[in-house]
Amino acid sequence: MDLRTLDTYFPEGTVLRVDDVSVNLDPQRLHKFLQVAKSKYPLIQILLAVSPMVFNMPKWEPKNQDKHERVFPAILNAKSDHRVYFEIEKIGIPDWLEGIVSEFDCTLATHGLIHVDHRLLSRDLQEMSIITSASLANTKIFVPPFNKYNSDTVSICKEQNIKLVRWEDGWTHLGFHSFQDNGNKYYVHLHDHPGEKLISLL
Ligand SMILES: [Zn+2]
Repeated sequence: MDLRTLDTYFPEGTVLRVDDVSVNLDPQRLHKFLQVAKSKYPLIQILLAVSPMVFNMPKWEPKNQDKHERVFPAILNAKSDHRVYFEIEKIGIPDWLEGIVSEFDCTLATHGLIHVDHRLLSRDLQEMSIITSASLANTKIFVPPFNKYNSDTVSICKEQNIKLVRWEDGWTHLGFHSFQDNGNKYYVHLHDHPGEKLISLL
């Protein structure tokens, strides 16, 4: 597979990408974050990567409310069998998503049906995850979970006319670099920045 012919999503201008957008997210926090971002930097583009199938986080982290916006428990990262990611407990596209998208002129992406490293899935399973989740989120852009993908991902996206977001193109993690409207592409997980810490990123 010649990666140079791949249709990737890497637009001109500054992009602020929010990953793990799910029914677990606090919509008020997301709303405030995007409101501050758009008022400070009116020209930036916002990309929301949607995760339709997630874990019931209060069950996993009853004493840690800061973790309730996650889409899967961090402990799963330590497990050797990727099928633990299949044991999701909640399904849905957030009912507040449409309002946020139109208010802040966001672009939607899918983040896969399940938040699992797609390199560990067979081609058929990857195909199902990418196509169904893209259809649910009504998008033609795929942000691979953990930024991990393989040649099957590339060929599925090509066949389906879906643009792949590749970390290697130059996406910057907002937890390690401060945000500037300088043409760079940034991505962030809201659960990494609880409470008011989130707003201080901007
Ligand atoms: Zn993610």
